[in-house]
Amino acid sequence: MKLSFFGADQCVTGSCHCLEINGKTILVDCGLQQGRDEISNEEFPFNPAGVDYVLVTHAHIDHSGRIPKLIRQGFHGEILTTRLTADLMRIMLLDSAHIQEQDAEWKNRKGERAGRAPVEPLYTIEDAQKVAEYLKTCEYDEEINLCEGVRVKFSDAGHLLGSASIWMDLNEGGVEKTIVFSGDIGNVDQPIIRDPVHFHGADYVVMESTYGDRNHTEVWSYTDDLAKIIDETMARGGNVVIPSFAVGRTQELLYFIREIKDRKMVKSNPDFPVYIDSPLAKQATQIFTGNLHGYLDEGALKLVADGTNMFNFTNLRMTETVDESRALNDDRTPKVIISASGMCDAGRIRHHLKHNLWRPECTVAFVGYQGEGTLGRLLLNGAESVKMFGEEITVRAKIVNYTGLSSHADRDHLLSWISDIKEPKPQHVFVVHGDREVAPFFAQTIQGMGFTAHAPQYTEVYDLVSCQQLQTGYLPERKAKVVEGTKVSSAYERLVAVGQLVVEAIKRAKKRDNKSLANFADQLKKVLEKWDV
Ligand SMILES: [Zn+2]
Repeated sequence: MKLSFFGADQCVTGSCHCLEINGKTILVDCGLQQGRDEISNEEFPFNPAGVDYVLVTHAHIDHSGRIPKLIRQGFHGEILTTRLTADLMRIMLLDSAHIQEQDAEWKNRKGERAGRAPVEPLYTIEDAQKVAEYLKTCEYDEEINLCEGVRVKFSDAGHLLGSASIWMDLNEGGVEKTIVFSGDIGNVDQPIIRDPVHFHGADYVVMESTYGDRNHTEVWSYTDDLAKIIDETMARGGNVVIPSFAVGRTQELLYFIREIKDRKMVKSNPDFPVYIDSPLAKQATQIFTGNLHGYLDEGALKLVADGTNMFNFTNLRMTETVDESRALNDDRTPKVIISASGMCDAGRIRHHLKHNLWRPECTVAFVGYQGEGTLGRLLLNGAESVKMFGEEITVRAKIVNYTGLSSHADRDHLLSWISDIKEPKPQHVFVVHGDREVAPFFAQTIQGMGFTAHAPQYTEVYDLVSCQQLQTGYLPERKAKVVEGTKVSSAYERLVAVGQLVVEAIKRAKKRDNKSLANFADQLKKVLEKWDV
Protein backbone atom coordinates (compact mmCIF):
# COMPACT_ATOMS: atom_id res chain seq x y z
CA MET A 1 0.00 0.00 0.00
CA LYS A 2 2.13 2.84 -1.36
CA LEU A 3 1.42 6.42 -2.35
CA SER A 4 3.71 8.30 -4.75
CA PHE A 5 3.65 11.95 -5.75
CA PHE A 6 4.06 12.59 -9.45
CA GLY A 7 2.71 16.11 -9.92
CA ALA A 8 1.28 19.26 -8.29
CA ASP A 9 3.93 18.85 -5.59
CA GLN A 10 4.65 22.33 -4.28
CA CYS A 11 3.18 23.73 -7.50
CA VAL A 12 -0.35 24.13 -8.86
CA THR A 13 -0.33 22.19 -12.13
CA GLY A 14 0.28 18.65 -13.38
CA SER A 15 -1.77 16.91 -10.65
CA CYS A 16 -0.89 13.22 -10.45
CA HIS A 17 -0.81 10.91 -7.43
CA CYS A 18 -0.22 7.18 -7.61
CA LEU A 19 -1.57 4.49 -5.32
CA GLU A 20 -0.23 0.93 -5.45
CA ILE A 21 -2.27 -1.78 -3.76
CA ASN A 22 -2.78 -5.55 -4.19
CA GLY A 23 -0.65 -5.51 -7.34
CA LYS A 24 -2.72 -2.75 -8.97
CA THR A 25 -1.61 0.76 -9.88
CA ILE A 26 -4.17 3.54 -9.56
CA LEU A 27 -3.56 7.13 -10.62
CA VAL A 28 -5.59 9.95 -9.16
CA ASP A 29 -5.52 12.61 -11.91
CA CYS A 30 -3.08 12.84 -14.77
CA GLY A 31 -2.73 16.54 -15.47
CA LEU A 32 -0.66 18.66 -17.77
CA GLN A 33 2.26 20.51 -16.25
CA GLN A 34 1.77 24.16 -17.20
CA GLY A 35 3.78 26.01 -14.62
CA ARG A 36 7.36 27.11 -14.30
CA ASP A 37 8.75 23.87 -12.93
CA GLU A 38 11.10 22.04 -15.27
CA ILE A 39 9.03 18.85 -15.44
CA SER A 40 8.69 17.44 -18.91
CA ASN A 41 5.21 16.58 -20.13
CA GLU A 42 6.87 14.11 -22.52
CA GLU A 43 8.01 11.50 -20.00
CA PHE A 44 6.18 9.95 -17.06
CA PRO A 45 8.14 8.98 -13.93
CA PHE A 46 6.39 5.57 -14.09
CA ASN A 47 5.44 3.02 -16.74
CA PRO A 48 2.14 4.12 -18.40
CA ALA A 49 1.44 0.56 -19.59
CA GLY A 50 1.54 -0.62 -15.97
CA VAL A 51 -1.26 1.70 -14.82
CA ASP A 52 -4.57 -0.10 -14.23
CA TYR A 53 -6.90 2.78 -13.36
CA VAL A 54 -7.03 6.55 -13.65
CA LEU A 55 -9.54 8.29 -11.38
CA VAL A 56 -10.15 11.88 -12.50
CA THR A 57 -11.25 14.50 -9.95
CA HIS A 58 -12.31 17.07 -12.57
CA ALA A 59 -11.94 18.11 -16.17
CA HIS A 60 -9.47 21.01 -15.84
CA ILE A 61 -6.45 20.35 -18.03
CA ASP A 62 -4.02 20.51 -15.12
CA HIS A 63 -5.85 17.44 -13.75
CA SER A 64 -6.73 15.54 -16.94
CA GLY A 65 -4.56 16.95 -19.73
CA ARG A 66 -1.95 14.21 -19.92
CA ILE A 67 -4.38 11.29 -20.28
CA PRO A 68 -4.11 11.19 -24.11
CA LYS A 69 -0.32 11.06 -23.68
CA LEU A 70 -0.70 8.19 -21.19
CA ILE A 71 -2.73 6.25 -23.78
CA ARG A 72 -0.21 7.09 -26.49
CA GLN A 73 2.48 5.55 -24.29
CA GLY A 74 0.72 2.26 -23.65
CA PHE A 75 -1.99 2.76 -21.00
CA HIS A 76 -4.88 0.38 -21.62
CA GLY A 77 -6.71 0.36 -18.29
CA GLU A 78 -9.88 2.06 -17.14
CA ILE A 79 -10.59 5.78 -16.60
CA LEU A 80 -13.25 6.47 -14.00
CA THR A 81 -14.90 9.81 -13.31
CA THR A 82 -18.29 11.48 -12.87
CA ARG A 83 -20.66 11.69 -15.84
CA LEU A 84 -20.30 15.47 -16.21
CA THR A 85 -16.51 15.44 -15.86
CA ALA A 86 -16.43 12.85 -18.64
CA ASP A 87 -18.55 15.12 -20.86
CA LEU A 88 -16.37 18.16 -20.19
CA MET A 89 -13.14 16.17 -20.52
CA ARG A 90 -14.07 15.04 -24.01
CA ILE A 91 -14.26 18.60 -25.36
CA MET A 92 -11.41 19.98 -23.26
CA LEU A 93 -8.96 17.26 -24.27
CA LEU A 94 -9.84 17.73 -27.95
CA ASP A 95 -9.20 21.46 -27.54
CA SER A 96 -5.92 20.73 -25.76
CA ALA A 97 -4.88 18.31 -28.55
CA HIS A 98 -5.69 20.97 -31.13
CA ILE A 99 -3.38 23.40 -29.27
CA GLN A 100 -0.63 20.73 -29.09
CA GLU A 101 -0.89 20.11 -32.84
CA GLN A 102 -0.81 23.85 -33.59
CA ASP A 103 2.20 24.35 -31.32
CA ALA A 104 4.14 21.58 -33.04
CA GLU A 105 3.21 22.95 -36.46
CA TRP A 106 4.41 26.42 -35.50
CA LYS A 107 7.67 25.05 -34.07
CA ASN A 108 8.21 22.97 -37.20
CA ARG A 109 7.64 25.92 -39.52
CA LYS A 110 10.30 27.86 -37.64
CA GLY A 111 12.51 24.79 -37.19
CA GLU A 112 12.48 23.93 -40.88
CA ARG A 113 13.85 27.34 -41.76
CA ALA A 114 16.57 26.86 -39.13
CA GLY A 115 17.35 23.34 -40.40
CA ARG A 116 16.10 21.56 -37.26
CA ALA A 117 14.51 18.10 -37.21
CA PRO A 118 10.69 18.18 -36.91
CA VAL A 119 9.05 17.78 -33.48
CA GLU A 120 5.92 15.74 -32.76
CA PRO A 121 2.95 17.17 -30.88
CA LEU A 122 2.65 16.01 -27.25
CA TYR A 123 -0.50 14.25 -28.48
CA THR A 124 -2.87 14.50 -31.39
CA ILE A 125 -6.62 14.94 -31.86
CA GLU A 126 -6.73 11.22 -32.65
CA ASP A 127 -5.09 10.41 -29.28
CA ALA A 128 -7.63 12.62 -27.49
CA GLN A 129 -10.52 10.90 -29.27
CA LYS A 130 -9.28 7.52 -27.97
CA VAL A 131 -9.89 8.60 -24.35
CA ALA A 132 -13.62 7.88 -24.78
CA GLU A 133 -12.86 4.17 -25.32
CA TYR A 134 -11.43 3.87 -21.79
CA LEU A 135 -13.94 6.07 -19.96
CA LYS A 136 -16.36 4.69 -17.37
CA THR A 137 -18.63 7.10 -15.54
CA CYS A 138 -20.33 7.25 -12.17
CA GLU A 139 -22.65 9.56 -10.24
CA TYR A 140 -21.85 11.39 -7.01
CA ASP A 141 -21.90 9.25 -3.85
CA GLU A 142 -22.20 5.96 -5.73
CA GLU A 143 -19.96 3.39 -4.03
CA ILE A 144 -17.90 1.43 -6.54
CA ASN A 145 -15.84 -1.74 -6.08
CA LEU A 146 -12.89 -0.76 -8.23
CA CYS A 147 -10.74 -3.87 -7.75
CA GLU A 148 -9.72 -6.26 -4.99
CA GLY A 149 -9.50 -4.33 -1.71
CA VAL A 150 -10.44 -0.96 -3.20
CA ARG A 151 -13.81 0.77 -2.90
CA VAL A 152 -14.18 4.35 -4.18
CA LYS A 153 -16.74 7.11 -4.00
CA PHE A 154 -16.80 10.49 -5.78
CA SER A 155 -18.31 13.36 -3.76
CA ASP A 156 -19.12 16.86 -5.00
CA ALA A 157 -16.08 19.15 -4.60
CA GLY A 158 -18.03 22.25 -5.70
CA HIS A 159 -15.20 23.53 -7.91
CA LEU A 160 -16.42 22.95 -11.47
CA LEU A 161 -19.44 21.14 -12.87
CA GLY A 162 -18.81 17.42 -12.22
CA SER A 163 -15.80 18.04 -9.93
CA ALA A 164 -15.18 15.58 -7.12
CA SER A 165 -13.20 14.71 -4.06
CA ILE A 166 -12.45 10.99 -4.05
CA TRP A 167 -12.85 8.82 -0.97
CA MET A 168 -11.21 5.38 -1.03
CA ASP A 169 -11.49 2.43 1.30
CA LEU A 170 -8.39 0.22 1.02
CA ASN A 171 -7.76 -3.30 2.25
CA GLU A 172 -4.47 -5.10 1.69
CA GLY A 173 -3.76 -8.36 3.54
CA GLY A 174 -6.28 -7.45 6.22
CA VAL A 175 -4.85 -3.96 6.83
CA GLU A 176 -7.59 -1.39 6.27
CA LYS A 177 -7.07 2.30 5.54
CA THR A 178 -9.24 5.07 4.20
CA ILE A 179 -7.89 7.96 2.17
CA VAL A 180 -9.49 11.13 0.79
CA PHE A 181 -8.12 12.98 -2.22
CA SER A 182 -9.60 16.47 -2.04
CA GLY A 183 -9.21 17.34 -5.73
CA ASP A 184 -9.65 21.11 -6.12
CA ILE A 185 -11.95 22.29 -3.32
CA GLY A 186 -14.56 24.79 -4.49
CA ASN A 187 -15.49 28.14 -3.10
CA VAL A 188 -18.76 28.44 -1.18
CA ASP A 189 -21.84 30.20 -2.59
CA GLN A 190 -20.83 29.97 -6.23
CA PRO A 191 -23.66 30.16 -8.73
CA ILE A 192 -24.88 27.00 -10.53
CA ILE A 193 -22.88 24.38 -8.59
CA ARG A 194 -23.14 23.21 -4.99
CA ASP A 195 -20.81 23.85 -2.05
CA PRO A 196 -18.04 21.29 -1.47
CA VAL A 197 -18.84 18.16 0.55
CA HIS A 198 -16.93 17.84 3.84
CA PHE A 199 -15.68 14.47 5.10
CA HIS A 200 -15.84 13.36 8.71
CA GLY A 201 -13.00 10.88 8.96
CA ALA A 202 -10.06 9.35 7.05
CA ASP A 203 -6.68 7.77 7.83
CA TYR A 204 -4.95 9.81 5.15
CA VAL A 205 -5.80 13.00 3.29
CA VAL A 206 -4.20 14.40 0.14
CA MET A 207 -5.42 17.98 0.00
CA GLU A 208 -5.01 21.01 -2.21
CA SER A 209 -3.69 24.33 -0.88
CA THR A 210 -3.97 26.81 -3.79
CA TYR A 211 -5.20 29.62 -1.51
CA GLY A 212 -3.58 28.21 1.63
CA ASP A 213 -2.02 31.56 2.51
CA ARG A 214 -4.86 34.00 1.86
CA ASN A 215 -8.53 34.69 2.07
CA HIS A 216 -10.70 36.02 -0.70
CA THR A 217 -11.50 39.67 -0.32
CA GLU A 218 -15.00 40.72 0.70
CA VAL A 219 -17.70 39.10 -1.42
CA TRP A 220 -18.76 41.28 -4.30
CA SER A 221 -22.30 41.63 -5.32
CA TYR A 222 -21.57 39.91 -8.61
CA THR A 223 -24.44 41.24 -10.66
CA ASP A 224 -24.38 44.81 -9.23
CA ASP A 225 -20.66 45.26 -9.84
CA LEU A 226 -20.64 43.68 -13.26
CA ALA A 227 -23.70 45.70 -14.30
CA LYS A 228 -21.96 48.89 -13.17
CA ILE A 229 -18.81 48.11 -15.19
CA ILE A 230 -20.89 47.35 -18.29
CA ASP A 231 -23.16 50.39 -17.84
CA GLU A 232 -20.28 52.86 -17.47
CA THR A 233 -18.38 51.43 -20.45
CA MET A 234 -21.45 51.33 -22.72
CA ALA A 235 -22.18 54.97 -21.81
CA ARG A 236 -18.65 55.88 -22.94
CA GLY A 237 -19.20 54.02 -26.22
CA GLY A 238 -16.59 51.37 -25.44
CA ASN A 239 -16.39 47.58 -25.29
CA VAL A 240 -16.07 45.47 -22.18
CA VAL A 241 -13.50 42.77 -22.90
CA ILE A 242 -13.48 39.88 -20.45
CA PRO A 243 -10.66 37.31 -20.64
CA SER A 244 -12.23 34.16 -19.25
CA PHE A 245 -11.66 30.44 -19.02
CA ALA A 246 -13.99 28.84 -21.53
CA VAL A 247 -15.36 26.20 -19.17
CA GLY A 248 -16.97 27.16 -15.89
CA ARG A 249 -16.17 30.85 -15.60
CA THR A 250 -17.77 31.78 -18.95
CA GLN A 251 -21.01 30.03 -17.97
CA GLU A 252 -20.99 31.85 -14.61
CA LEU A 253 -20.70 35.15 -16.48
CA LEU A 254 -23.61 34.19 -18.73
CA TYR A 255 -25.60 33.34 -15.62
CA PHE A 256 -24.94 36.82 -14.17
CA ILE A 257 -25.52 38.67 -17.45
CA ARG A 258 -28.88 36.92 -17.90
CA GLU A 259 -29.88 38.27 -14.50
CA ILE A 260 -28.52 41.75 -15.33
CA LYS A 261 -30.61 41.79 -18.52
CA ASP A 262 -33.73 40.40 -16.82
CA ARG A 263 -33.51 43.18 -14.23
CA LYS A 264 -32.62 45.81 -16.86
CA MET A 265 -29.64 46.92 -14.78
CA VAL A 266 -27.64 48.50 -17.61
CA LYS A 267 -29.54 51.76 -18.05
CA SER A 268 -27.38 53.18 -20.86
CA ASN A 269 -28.09 50.17 -23.09
CA PRO A 270 -30.44 47.58 -21.53
CA ASP A 271 -30.16 45.14 -24.42
CA PHE A 272 -26.39 45.37 -24.94
CA PRO A 273 -24.88 42.75 -27.27
CA VAL A 274 -22.76 39.96 -25.76
CA TYR A 275 -20.35 37.84 -27.79
CA ILE A 276 -18.84 34.58 -26.63
CA ASP A 277 -15.80 34.30 -28.83
CA SER A 278 -14.52 30.82 -28.10
CA PRO A 279 -15.61 27.59 -29.80
CA LEU A 280 -14.74 25.65 -26.63
CA ALA A 281 -16.94 27.96 -24.51
CA LYS A 282 -19.80 27.35 -26.95
CA GLN A 283 -19.47 23.57 -26.63
CA ALA A 284 -19.13 23.79 -22.85
CA THR A 285 -22.26 25.92 -22.62
CA GLN A 286 -24.15 23.18 -24.46
CA ILE A 287 -23.01 20.68 -21.81
CA PHE A 288 -24.07 23.10 -19.07
CA THR A 289 -27.57 23.10 -20.54
CA GLY A 290 -27.79 19.29 -20.81
CA ASN A 291 -28.95 16.74 -18.25
CA LEU A 292 -27.56 18.14 -14.99
CA HIS A 293 -29.68 16.05 -12.65
CA GLY A 294 -27.71 15.63 -9.42
CA TYR A 295 -25.17 18.36 -10.18
CA LEU A 296 -26.88 21.74 -9.54
CA ASP A 297 -27.37 23.99 -6.54
CA GLU A 298 -30.83 25.09 -5.37
CA GLY A 299 -30.91 28.40 -7.24
CA ALA A 300 -30.08 26.73 -10.52
CA LEU A 301 -32.58 23.92 -9.89
CA LYS A 302 -35.32 26.50 -9.38
CA LEU A 303 -34.49 28.15 -12.71
CA VAL A 304 -34.54 24.79 -14.47
CA ALA A 305 -37.92 24.01 -12.87
CA ASP A 306 -39.23 27.39 -14.11
CA GLY A 307 -38.10 26.53 -17.62
CA THR A 308 -35.55 29.40 -17.64
CA ASN A 309 -32.46 28.86 -19.77
CA MET A 310 -29.75 29.91 -17.32
CA PHE A 311 -27.24 30.77 -20.03
CA ASN A 312 -29.33 32.40 -22.71
CA PHE A 313 -30.76 35.88 -23.29
CA THR A 314 -31.49 38.25 -26.15
CA ASN A 315 -28.57 39.63 -28.14
CA LEU A 316 -26.21 36.79 -27.15
CA ARG A 317 -24.05 35.52 -29.98
CA MET A 318 -21.51 32.74 -30.06
CA THR A 319 -18.90 33.15 -32.75
CA GLU A 320 -17.40 30.10 -34.35
CA THR A 321 -14.98 30.97 -37.14
CA VAL A 322 -11.85 33.12 -37.09
CA ASP A 323 -13.51 35.47 -39.61
CA GLU A 324 -16.48 36.01 -37.29
CA SER A 325 -14.03 36.70 -34.48
CA ARG A 326 -12.11 39.26 -36.55
CA ALA A 327 -15.31 40.98 -37.64
CA LEU A 328 -15.95 41.91 -33.98
CA ASN A 329 -13.00 44.28 -34.14
CA ASP A 330 -14.29 46.12 -37.21
CA ASP A 331 -17.71 46.76 -35.74
CA ARG A 332 -17.72 49.76 -33.38
CA THR A 333 -21.07 49.02 -31.67
CA PRO A 334 -20.38 48.92 -27.91
CA LYS A 335 -20.50 45.31 -26.76
CA VAL A 336 -19.31 42.77 -24.23
CA ILE A 337 -16.73 40.30 -25.59
CA ILE A 338 -15.95 37.20 -23.53
CA SER A 339 -13.04 35.21 -24.87
CA ALA A 340 -10.26 32.80 -23.87
CA SER A 341 -7.64 32.25 -22.64
CA GLY A 342 -8.35 33.45 -19.14
CA MET A 343 -4.80 34.67 -18.47
CA CYS A 344 -4.35 36.18 -21.96
CA ASP A 345 -1.30 34.11 -22.90
CA ALA A 346 -2.95 32.53 -25.92
CA GLY A 347 -6.11 32.35 -27.97
CA ARG A 348 -8.48 34.85 -29.50
CA ILE A 349 -8.50 37.16 -26.49
CA ARG A 350 -5.11 38.50 -27.57
CA HIS A 351 -6.62 39.96 -30.76
CA HIS A 352 -9.38 41.62 -28.76
CA LEU A 353 -6.85 43.08 -26.35
CA LYS A 354 -4.80 44.42 -29.23
CA HIS A 355 -7.87 46.20 -30.64
CA ASN A 356 -9.27 47.49 -27.34
CA LEU A 357 -6.40 48.14 -24.90
CA TRP A 358 -5.43 51.42 -26.55
CA ARG A 359 -9.00 52.82 -26.50
CA PRO A 360 -9.68 54.83 -23.32
CA GLU A 361 -13.46 54.27 -23.60
CA CYS A 362 -13.05 50.47 -23.28
CA THR A 363 -12.73 48.28 -20.19
CA VAL A 364 -10.79 45.06 -19.72
CA ALA A 365 -12.33 43.18 -16.80
CA PHE A 366 -10.35 40.34 -15.25
CA VAL A 367 -12.51 37.68 -13.65
CA GLY A 368 -9.98 35.08 -12.59
CA TYR A 369 -6.59 34.47 -11.06
CA GLN A 370 -3.74 35.82 -13.21
CA GLY A 371 -0.64 33.65 -12.85
CA GLU A 372 2.76 35.15 -12.30
CA GLY A 373 4.48 35.97 -15.60
CA THR A 374 1.27 36.07 -17.70
CA LEU A 375 0.11 39.01 -19.81
CA GLY A 376 -2.95 39.26 -17.56
CA ARG A 377 -0.77 39.75 -14.47
CA LEU A 378 1.29 42.35 -16.32
CA LEU A 379 -1.83 44.38 -17.15
CA LEU A 380 -3.11 44.10 -13.58
CA ASN A 381 0.27 45.31 -12.35
CA GLY A 382 -0.27 48.51 -14.30
CA ALA A 383 1.87 48.05 -17.44
CA GLU A 384 1.70 51.25 -19.48
CA SER A 385 2.27 49.45 -22.73
CA VAL A 386 2.54 45.86 -23.88
CA LYS A 387 4.01 44.24 -26.94
CA MET A 388 1.60 42.01 -28.85
CA PHE A 389 2.06 40.42 -32.25
CA GLY A 390 5.29 42.42 -32.58
CA GLU A 391 3.43 45.72 -32.04
CA GLU A 392 3.68 48.17 -29.17
CA ILE A 393 0.19 48.67 -27.70
CA THR A 394 -0.41 51.53 -25.25
CA VAL A 395 -2.72 50.64 -22.38
CA ARG A 396 -5.42 53.33 -22.12
CA ALA A 397 -8.46 51.15 -21.43
CA LYS A 398 -9.74 50.88 -17.89
CA ILE A 399 -8.38 47.74 -16.23
CA VAL A 400 -10.71 46.23 -13.64
CA ASN A 401 -10.02 43.29 -11.37
CA TYR A 402 -13.29 41.56 -10.58
CA THR A 403 -11.92 39.54 -7.69
CA GLY A 404 -15.14 38.21 -6.22
CA LEU A 405 -15.19 35.19 -8.52
CA SER A 406 -13.07 32.27 -7.48
CA SER A 407 -13.62 28.58 -7.98
CA HIS A 408 -11.18 27.73 -5.16
CA ALA A 409 -11.82 27.66 -1.43
CA ASP A 410 -9.80 30.28 0.42
CA ARG A 411 -7.60 29.72 3.48
CA ASP A 412 -10.42 29.81 6.04
CA HIS A 413 -12.57 27.41 4.02
CA LEU A 414 -9.65 25.01 3.50
CA LEU A 415 -9.08 25.04 7.26
CA SER A 416 -12.75 24.40 7.93
CA TRP A 417 -12.73 21.53 5.37
CA ILE A 418 -9.76 19.77 7.00
CA SER A 419 -10.85 20.38 10.58
CA ASP A 420 -14.09 18.47 9.96
CA ILE A 421 -12.07 15.29 9.34
CA LYS A 422 -11.80 13.99 12.89
CA GLU A 423 -13.36 10.52 13.30
CA PRO A 424 -10.79 9.12 12.73
CA LYS A 425 -8.37 11.99 12.66
CA PRO A 426 -5.89 11.51 9.79
CA GLN A 427 -2.56 9.85 10.56
CA HIS A 428 -1.05 12.15 7.97
CA VAL A 429 -2.15 14.97 5.67
CA PHE A 430 -0.25 15.40 2.41
CA VAL A 431 -0.52 19.00 1.26
CA VAL A 432 -0.34 19.32 -2.54
CA HIS A 433 -1.46 21.72 -5.31
CA GLY A 434 -0.05 24.89 -3.80
CA ASP A 435 2.89 27.04 -4.84
CA ARG A 436 6.34 26.42 -3.38
CA GLU A 437 5.83 29.34 -1.01
CA VAL A 438 2.30 28.24 -0.06
CA ALA A 439 2.03 24.42 0.30
CA PRO A 440 4.70 24.04 3.08
CA PHE A 441 3.26 27.10 4.82
CA PHE A 442 -0.25 25.61 4.76
CA ALA A 443 1.13 22.28 6.06
CA GLN A 444 2.65 24.23 8.97
CA THR A 445 -0.66 26.01 9.57
CA ILE A 446 -2.54 22.74 9.97
CA GLN A 447 0.27 21.28 12.10
CA GLY A 448 -0.53 24.15 14.42
CA MET A 449 -4.08 22.76 14.60
CA GLY A 450 -2.80 19.36 15.73
CA PHE A 451 -2.52 17.54 12.39
CA THR A 452 0.57 15.66 11.22
CA ALA A 453 1.22 17.09 7.79
CA HIS A 454 3.81 17.97 5.20
CA ALA A 455 4.04 19.12 1.58
CA PRO A 456 5.58 16.26 -0.42
CA GLN A 457 8.13 16.81 -3.16
CA TYR A 458 8.09 15.41 -6.70
CA THR A 459 8.62 11.57 -6.81
CA GLU A 460 8.32 11.17 -3.03
CA VAL A 461 6.98 7.73 -1.97
CA TYR A 462 5.10 6.92 1.23
CA ASP A 463 4.12 3.59 2.77
CA LEU A 464 0.53 3.79 3.99
CA VAL A 465 0.67 0.74 6.25
CA SER A 466 3.59 1.91 8.39
CA CYS A 467 2.99 5.63 7.69
CA GLN A 468 6.67 5.98 6.74
CA GLN A 469 8.41 7.79 3.94
CA LEU A 470 10.06 5.24 1.64
CA GLN A 471 11.75 7.60 -0.78
CA THR A 472 12.50 11.29 -0.74
CA GLY A 473 11.54 13.54 -3.66
CA TYR A 474 13.01 16.69 -5.09
CA LEU A 475 11.97 20.17 -6.17
CA PRO A 476 12.51 20.65 -9.91
CA GLU A 477 14.41 23.62 -11.33
CA ARG A 478 12.27 26.56 -12.31
CA LYS A 479 12.10 28.02 -15.78
CA ALA A 480 12.85 31.68 -16.35
CA LYS A 481 9.70 33.65 -17.06
CA VAL A 482 9.14 34.57 -20.67
CA VAL A 483 6.33 36.92 -21.59
CA GLU A 484 6.13 38.72 -24.86
CA GLY A 485 6.40 42.42 -24.26
CA THR A 486 7.61 42.18 -20.68
CA LYS A 487 9.36 45.40 -19.90
CA VAL A 488 9.14 44.88 -16.20
CA SER A 489 12.20 43.53 -14.42
CA SER A 490 11.82 40.53 -12.14
CA ALA A 491 12.96 42.69 -9.22
CA TYR A 492 10.05 45.05 -9.94
CA GLU A 493 7.64 42.10 -10.16
CA ARG A 494 8.88 40.94 -6.77
CA LEU A 495 8.28 44.38 -5.35
CA VAL A 496 4.71 44.36 -6.69
CA ALA A 497 4.16 40.89 -5.18
CA VAL A 498 5.42 42.07 -1.78
CA GLY A 499 3.14 45.11 -2.12
CA GLN A 500 0.18 42.76 -2.54
CA LEU A 501 1.23 40.90 0.62
CA VAL A 502 1.22 44.24 2.47
CA VAL A 503 -2.34 44.94 1.28
CA GLU A 504 -3.40 41.45 2.41
CA ALA A 505 -1.76 42.01 5.81
CA ILE A 506 -3.62 45.31 6.18
CA LYS A 507 -6.93 43.58 5.47
CA ARG A 508 -6.15 40.85 8.00
CA ALA A 509 -5.24 43.48 10.60
CA LYS A 510 -8.68 45.13 10.32
CA LYS A 511 -9.98 43.71 13.60
CA ARG A 512 -6.88 44.60 15.67
CA ASP A 513 -7.07 47.35 18.31
CA ASN A 514 -6.61 50.97 17.31
CA LYS A 515 -3.22 51.28 18.97
CA SER A 516 -1.62 48.47 16.95
CA LEU A 517 -3.31 49.72 13.77
CA ALA A 518 -1.81 53.19 14.32
CA ASN A 519 1.56 51.60 15.01
CA PHE A 520 1.37 49.54 11.82
CA ALA A 521 0.44 52.63 9.80
CA ASP A 522 3.31 54.66 11.28
CA GLN A 523 5.85 51.99 10.45
CA LEU A 524 4.62 51.61 6.87
CA LYS A 525 4.71 55.39 6.48
CA LYS A 526 8.32 55.43 7.65
CA VAL A 527 9.29 52.87 4.99
CA LEU A 528 7.58 54.93 2.29
CA GLU A 529 9.28 58.14 3.47
CA LYS A 530 12.63 56.41 3.41
CA TRP A 531 12.14 55.43 -0.22
CA ASP A 532 10.72 58.83 -1.11
CA VAL A 533 7.78 57.25 -2.98
ZN1 LIG B 1 -9.36 22.91 -11.14
